[in-house]
Amino acid sequence: MIIRNGLVALPGEGDFRRASIRARGERIAEIAEGLEPLPGEEEIDASGLLVLPGAIDPHVHFDEPGFTSREDFLHGSSEAARGGVTTVIDMPCTSLPPVIDLAAFENKLAQVAKGAVVDFALFGGVSGHRVSDSLGSGGAGAMAALAPKVVGFKCYFISGMDSFTRVTHDDFTRVVAEGARLGRPVLLHAEDLDYVTAAASRVKAERAAGRRSADSGWDDYYESRPEAAELAAVAAALALAKGREASLHIVHVGTSAAAELAHSAGATCETCAHYLAFSREDFASKGAALKTAPVVKGRGEREALWSLLAAGRIDFLASDHAPSTIAEKETGDAWSAYGGIPGVGTGFPYLYSEGLARGRLSLPRFLEATSGAAARRYGLDARKGAIAPGKDADLVLVDPARTTRIEGARLLSKGRITPFEGMELAGSIVATYLRGRLVYDGSRIIAAPGTGRFLSWGYA
Ligand SMILES: [Zn+2]
Repeated sequence: MIIRNGLVALPGEGDFRRASIRARGERIAEIAEGLEPLPGEEEIDASGLLVLPGAIDPHVHFDEPGFTSREDFLHGSSEAARGGVTTVIDMPCTSLPPVIDLAAFENKLAQVAKGAVVDFALFGGVSGHRVSDSLGSGGAGAMAALAPKVVGFKCYFISGMDSFTRVTHDDFTRVVAEGARLGRPVLLHAEDLDYVTAAASRVKAERAAGRRSADSGWDDYYESRPEAAELAAVAAALALAKGREASLHIVHVGTSAAAELAHSAGATCETCAHYLAFSREDFASKGAALKTAPVVKGRGEREALWSLLAAGRIDFLASDHAPSTIAEKETGDAWSAYGGIPGVGTGFPYLYSEGLARGRLSLPRFLEATSGAAARRYGLDARKGAIAPGKDADLVLVDPARTTRIEGARLLSKGRITPFEGMELAGSIVATYLRGRLVYDGSRIIAAPGTGRFLSWGYA
């Protein structure tokens, strides 16, 4: 296959370069100006189009097996391909049984591989109720058994799930040490349990006593988990990980000071499109469609997060894709509405439009944020994360002259309630290629379920 005369985004280069890309089999073979098609070679004319590396979304909840009323790999990965994502990394906590040991991993892999239309890796997890099994003794715990299969280990300082509970500070210290020993990042959901528990009960008591303003309840919810709750948890995590900060990754950061603190200490972090696009004030118009965990923060945080992302002090973008059923989302109550939104298909188009096209992000930073940095962090960079000879031909063709309107009804995810509803974005994805094969043609998914490949650390 040869993709001719597109404007190609090459790693480290400050601007797009007109070039043609030849793929042989699954990989990129040549990148040069003026390449001519060989006899019989499939030829794609990309004149006027941008050619970008397929995005990596390193934080999705595809919920399979166990919570497939919300999402599954077929729907989630189809939505990924529609949105220019060619590799996803799925969380261990929202499938049943959770991926905290090898048996659960094998069970999950066998099920999800049948549905995937993009490539995927999995995180393992450490749940508080099974932490001694995870650590084991003599280096023979479940984390050690999982390490060859997974690209990191997720844990929580606060959890709403009975099947995947929070770790204590003492647990966390030992989990980070084990992650460092095994050479795998430890990912943390960082909100302070003590802060959130106390603030939630205080706010609810004030509401019951009629001492709060008559709003819709979203201010109550926000006040239970504001910036300070996130910052306190990140500060604690860094103290507990002292000396091993490089093994720590903070997921879905919505507070600029928390990101800055993590980066300064040598940890990595990610943010999500919803923290860049929205703030707590938007609950008035969007309601439960905007509810995520952590919650979106104050208005000033948005621009501060953009600046950190532009400066590389936030490492990369993730979606935290976590849809729910309509009934779970629309409960009419800020506290009980499901905290999670579909995002795997909207993050890359959003960051292209509002980041790269608007000039908030340089081209090198956009490429790092959407694929390069996550590929390195999770051991996939031998073949993923950039357009370069030898790497997989994971390519997204974008027409910069067209626009895209986000409509929940058109998402391919099971979840179609999105806070991005109605947003007009610059650019339109006209094709997504996975390892040299067309998986999405701009209107529908071409790839068969099961096309996606399972990737482990060191994929080469
Ligand atoms: Zn998540």
